[in-house]
Amino acid sequence: MFATQPFIDIRRRLHQIPEPGFAEFKTQQLLLDTISMLPQERIDVKTWRTGILVKVKGRNPSKRIGYRADMDGLPITEDTSYEFRSTHPGYMHACGHDFHMSIGLGVLTYFVQYPIDDDLIVIFQPAEEGPGGAKPMLESEEFAEWKPDCIFALHIAPEYPVGTIATRPGILFANTSELFIDLTGTGGHAAFPHKANDMVVAASHMVTQLQSIISRNVDPLDSAVITIGRIEGGTKQNIIAEKARLEGTIRTLSVDSMSKVKTRIEAVVKGIETGFDCKAEIDYGANYYQVYNEENLTREFMDWLQQTGAATVVECREAMTGEDFGYFLAEIPGFMFWLGVDTPYGLHHAKIEPDEAAIEVALYVLTRYIAWKSNK
Ligand SMILES: [Zn+2]
Ligand SMILES: [Zn+2]
Repeated sequence: MFATQPFIDIRRRLHQIPEPGFAEFKTQQLLLDTISMLPQERIDVKTWRTGILVKVKGRNPSKRIGYRADMDGLPITEDTSYEFRSTHPGYMHACGHDFHMSIGLGVLTYFVQYPIDDDLIVIFQPAEEGPGGAKPMLESEEFAEWKPDCIFALHIAPEYPVGTIATRPGILFANTSELFIDLTGTGGHAAFPHKANDMVVAASHMVTQLQSIISRNVDPLDSAVITIGRIEGGTKQNIIAEKARLEGTIRTLSVDSMSKVKTRIEAVVKGIETGFDCKAEIDYGANYYQVYNEENLTREFMDWLQQTGAATVVECREAMTGEDFGYFLAEIPGFMFWLGVDTPYGLHHAKIEPDEAAIEVALYVLTRYIAWKSNK
């Protein structure tokens, strides 16, 4: 019998030390210490920046099976009822990455004890929330040497009960891009508008025109979102604003519509420049590639769940959230799935308390599925 309690304990220890992207130093150390307590003859370990790659050597490998867990916390002040609250002021594991990591440790511990034929590669990836660890990790030599032939990841899902797994073949998460637009005109006295170029008015036009891209330029069956979440402009109530800044995000369900939306944004911005005789600069900030689940593998996994009864399987809808696991899936066949953790608070909420019973569900499903995959 494989005990899952140790991984609940590790989850609580990880929960206490949330760290921002590429600063997961204590997290990395705790994971390395835990891995070093296992019998070492079946494992090889490498680090990449604050990430870790672990190979559990198979008995007679013909392929490498990958599992990826992200490692970083969020700049949120925790407000849970936990005794094991964050000890890092202003930081919290509010996106379940503590779950993802402890499940990763559980999976690798299981296969050290019960070896399979194939190699298992467990990937602890830094900086999912930003600036994005997946892309540079994929480009690293450390990763290339152990590149898996197929790869899986999960994400906790507050809205599903424990024992439920949700996923879908094809697109699961959107293409995302940040959007920053800086406008510079000519400021002046509020009573002399004819001698100035008002960037508050320009910014207002810009917001409404950006919304018309979604309603007029994107195929209604191919969803897209442009949200301007923040506007800043001007200095005082009776001074015409010289500068304005718009900050937002773009989300699309296809790679093609992301580039179309950006082309349209650039045209709208050019029009505002001409119309208001001002200068505008666009910065797309951080971009995440879509999470696209390989159809056959995902369908096979969903059928396997159904047939074995390992978990209740739900075919979910795609979501407009972003995840940098998409970069792995752009190169390696695999999929991501939602793991039900049954909590009323959403991801990134200061009060989120995912149900730890889901750790046992995930370990049961992943260890059996990976073992089955290896024997196929
Ligand atoms: Zn998150
Ligand atoms: Zn997350």
